[in-house]
Amino acid sequence: MPHIRHVPLYRFVLLVLWFFSPGCGPAEQISQSSAAPSVIVIEGGTLIDGTGAPALLGTRILIEDGRIQEIVQEGELSIPAGARVIDAAGKYIIPGLIDAHVHYDMPWLHRLYLANGVTTVRDLGSSIERTLTLRQEIAAGNILAPRMFVSGPGINPSSVRAMNLGSAKEMATKLVEAGVDGIKVTGYTTDELRDIVEVAHANGLIVYGHTGPKRGNRAPGARLAVEAGLDGIEHALGILEDAMDKPVPVPADYDPFDSTHIFRYWYGRMYSVVNSEKIDELIQLMVDNEVYFSPTLINFVRNFVQRNTPEVETDPNLKYIPEDEPDRFGRFTEEERQDWRKTMALMKEATYKFHEAGGLLINGTDSPGAALPGWSVHQEMELFVEAGLTPMAALLATTLNNAKVLNKEDELGTVEPGKYADLVILDADPLQDITHTQDIHLVIKNGLVLDPDVLLEENLEQFGARGERHFDRNQRN
Ligand SMILES: [Zn+2]
Repeated sequence: MPHIRHVPLYRFVLLVLWFFSPGCGPAEQISQSSAAPSVIVIEGGTLIDGTGAPALLGTRILIEDGRIQEIVQEGELSIPAGARVIDAAGKYIIPGLIDAHVHYDMPWLHRLYLANGVTTVRDLGSSIERTLTLRQEIAAGNILAPRMFVSGPGINPSSVRAMNLGSAKEMATKLVEAGVDGIKVTGYTTDELRDIVEVAHANGLIVYGHTGPKRGNRAPGARLAVEAGLDGIEHALGILEDAMDKPVPVPADYDPFDSTHIFRYWYGRMYSVVNSEKIDELIQLMVDNEVYFSPTLINFVRNFVQRNTPEVETDPNLKYIPEDEPDRFGRFTEEERQDWRKTMALMKEATYKFHEAGGLLINGTDSPGAALPGWSVHQEMELFVEAGLTPMAALLATTLNNAKVLNKEDELGTVEPGKYADLVILDADPLQDITHTQDIHLVIKNGLVLDPDVLLEENLEQFGARGERHFDRNQRN
């Protein structure tokens, strides 16, 4: 591996471009961490360290070998010889963002997440072989991408039975042995869930439940998830579904196994039968049992509330997405979008109440898909603020809280000495307006300084703009 120090940014960028140009095999790829100058000083910025402490003005942050070494007031520490100094006067520094619900299969995702300040992702359902390989290659510095945590495929009763994979307990054991970081479940009875939880907890892992529909099955709702001892629930659907007073009024030709119908009618019209007091009860139950909540609001906004609207269909960032998404839900009428707006209002209410009750709220986006990779983590923060959270709380849900569910709060989630040097330098104050998290000046991952504009340009060069050329799914790096 070439060992390059103190390379000016433009030369470094050229190197990155060269090493990631098509036709360059994995063996030739540079180790990004060894290419970075080993000592970096970020000078003069306002630090929002992610612990919840007030912003600290005029800081000097010393980074060495990919770790945060020291944080002092400007001028309190001499700058080591040979250090790369980043002038952050007038800028704001936040921890690297974490997306705790992604489906990370494709190489075109790497730089899109990084360009948006997402330095860590948790995969919640992808090929186990591919994600384990990616996790290893990324950690070794062979692939420039966010840190990855892996769940493997969610444990789903129908596929386990169809594939003759044995009991829930055996499936969970296989996943643990394969080396997953946590286990996702998408179905099962309370007893089977308890078996999975027992296996996971015995191995220091947590279990999280998808809530919402599964073809031919009902995924666990919030109540079943809590009763079975799960550690977290994914999607706000699980709370609403368990807070209904009566079934949702659906059309006579409603097909409960048709996912288009389920989202268009069942979840779209759910607002009309949900009882807010039942939401309160469920939230208290979750908080009392320390069950985290990942509402994935942006996924529902982009898929349904904004279905067939220009916001989604002519989103300028679509150009970075080389692949077309299959249209799974058809076109919505304005009335159907209206229904979804009301259901979304209840999801936001649940999100706010959960946070206010002291629950561990986290940011997961279910990207890529209608929720765009990287961009959606910021939009989820905006939705949290619309729901009533402060910008600081929305930021903590995306950094420290996500580090907690990864069981990595000693290494990730805040800007503190000893932790990985994963941080984002912003041009404007995110505590004044949460949309400022999108005004990204630089992203630092593991001490590697990345320019978001360059990352996006590189992606266009490697994979093409949407529709411009055929994207080869077999290109696996
Ligand atoms: Zn998902």
